[in-house]
Amino acid sequence: MTRITAEWLTQDSTQTLFRTFEHAHHQLLAVGGCVRNTLLGMPVSDIDMATDAWPDQVMDIAQGAGFKVIPTGIDHGTITVVVQDVPYEITSFRMDVETDGRHAKIAYAGNRRDDAKRRDFTMNALYADAAGHVLDGVGGLDDLHARKVRFIGDAGSRIKEDYLRILRFFRFFAHYGDPSSGIDAEGLAACAEHAEGLGALSRERIGAEMRKILSAPDPAPAVASMSQSGVLMRVMPGAEPMSLPVLVHLEAGADPDWIRRALVLGGEAITETWRLSRSEARVLDLGKADLQAETSLAEMAYRHGARHARNVAFVRAAHLQQPVAPDFATQIVEAAQARFPVDATDLMPSLNGPALGEKLRALESEWIASAFRLTRDELLRR
Ligand code: ATP
Ligand code: MG
Repeated sequence: MTRITAEWLTQDSTQTLFRTFEHAHHQLLAVGGCVRNTLLGMPVSDIDMATDAWPDQVMDIAQGAGFKVIPTGIDHGTITVVVQDVPYEITSFRMDVETDGRHAKIAYAGNRRDDAKRRDFTMNALYADAAGHVLDGVGGLDDLHARKVRFIGDAGSRIKEDYLRILRFFRFFAHYGDPSSGIDAEGLAACAEHAEGLGALSRERIGAEMRKILSAPDPAPAVASMSQSGVLMRVMPGAEPMSLPVLVHLEAGADPDWIRRALVLGGEAITETWRLSRSEARVLDLGKADLQAETSLAEMAYRHGARHARNVAFVRAAHLQQPVAPDFATQIVEAAQARFPVDATDLMPSLNGPALGEKLRALESEWIASAFRLTRDELLRR
């Protein structure tokens, strides 16, 4: 039997939680990302658990033990229980009885096997008990070792229950799949067939999934499959996937930035379709504008910061299929730190009003053109 061990599992809070449920004669198992990522040797971000206790029983058990309880997703059976400051998302074993493409009418199931069947992919239906024994009823371990993202049951029917699974399919492939053996053909065909169902999803959900897909170390194979299946044009109209693999190659494993990946893909208006925050939209719009402009990288870094200039440098190079200049990183960092040595008081009172502003801007341009070398005195002598 496969066994895992990890800090999140052996730590006191987790073991205390397991014991509390055991004393209440209920089964509690870790499930999902924490088990999957531990098996892959990858970091674990949050701990999901499943139990045969019903939601009100979970509340009673947790409160009885003095744990803080937050009914996070009570209508789908999820309760957050906080033990020694560590949050656990505990969901009652359930099966989906009826769905409308996003919201499932649920029934609580008495056992893990039914619970496993309502989960999306085989690698996400792996459970672990308190001792780390891994329980697998759907072939998830084999698929995980082959790095194969595979729907549990018939891919088409599972997508029709919840269209978000289309994007989750590409997200898990981007992060955990093996691009050399390719994306699961049956899953991909089902995504293509049901792509129009993506219209049922909220923009927030689409945006959240797309950020995660584009943050993968190499999202290019997933995005190519999204394009091929007609999914990309629905979530990112006008995007062109060709330059993305070049960009990822140029990045050489450093600093994956989803906004930069979105920039290289291009297309229209993701500010709206992904519900970007104001600061995300600003970074993206600046990038778009400067990709078209003649502005030097140094000037971009000076005016809008190193991240922005780096994004434009990489995206320009990817579109041209050329390497980035070897010294561009230091150049950008220096420029981002440069401080214009002249201020308005230096020019007053001989100048004021609009003339003052104009002169300041002219001097600043000269200073930028001198690669930030002209000193305050040299500038004022002009
Ligand atoms: P992450 O590392 O992103 O947290 P995760 O696999 O834990 O990955 P979650 O979104 O936290 O993903 O969900 C936890 C588990 O719940 C999943 O592993 C999966 O078993 C199940 N699940 C989540 N969303 C769905 C869905 N839309 N359809 C079916 N099962 C789902
Ligand atoms: Mg999770």
